[in-house]
Amino acid sequence: MRTIRVTVWNEYIHEKDPRIAKIYPDGIHGAIASMLGREEDFEIRTATLDMPEHGLTDDVLNTTDVLIWWGHLAHAKVSDEVAEKVRQRVLAGMGLIVLHSGHLSKPFVKLMGTICRSKWRENDELERIWVIEPGHPIAEGLPEYIELPKEETYGERFDIPKPDDLVFISWFSGGEVFRSGCCYNRGNGKVFYFRPGHEEYPTFYREDITRILANAVRWACPRMITPPTFGHYEAIEHVKDKFEGRSMEERTHATLGKT
Ligand code: ZN
Repeated sequence: MRTIRVTVWNEYIHEKDPRIAKIYPDGIHGAIASMLGREEDFEIRTATLDMPEHGLTDDVLNTTDVLIWWGHLAHAKVSDEVAEKVRQRVLAGMGLIVLHSGHLSKPFVKLMGTICRSKWRENDELERIWVIEPGHPIAEGLPEYIELPKEETYGERFDIPKPDDLVFISWFSGGEVFRSGCCYNRGNGKVFYFRPGHEEYPTFYREDITRILANAVRWACPRMITPPTFGHYEAIEHVKDKFEGRSMEERTHATLGKT
């Protein structure tokens, strides 16, 4: 069995408030890591904002297959350098799962290219998550819908690019709807945005939510690929070389001179 190396990143600020620490004594990252840690093929690490390089050193990023991201209060405190490294790693093939308010995190906004804002309301409303693509790998083993009795409400418009696959749509008892499970391909990497997970609710201890995250990790895990070739490329077939006998410099000059 192939081991999937998962890093769970959390800004880890809300949980230092005793009210939130009661729900997540080991932080949201600790809860996710312990729930996902039951999967035999996952090797889990955690990283937080206050660690050097936010715990996302080159060594950690280069040995991460799938990065899970939770952030809210401190998006601006994430260094541009680390955010750019995360983006580059996704383009090179790393999977990225962005949770809840992570939709406004630097790595996600950079990878989407839009403002990624939405409506929101904290009012203990019911969230009903409809599985609209039951054949998608992230929906494997789920019923037709799941209900979270209390969650933060998000509402459309959610200013994201049209997802490559939309797996879940949420309905809230206040009337809003929201695209809550969005898949994207970016370069060689895959990105999954999943909406639930406000810090005031024990959402990340749920079996169904853990199932979705585990499915998403397996879906986003990089495949073995042949690195693509870019730039000048010799013909595979036998064709007459119109610049035969000329140096690369002369070829470039001749090609550019034509445009
Ligand atoms: Zn929230």
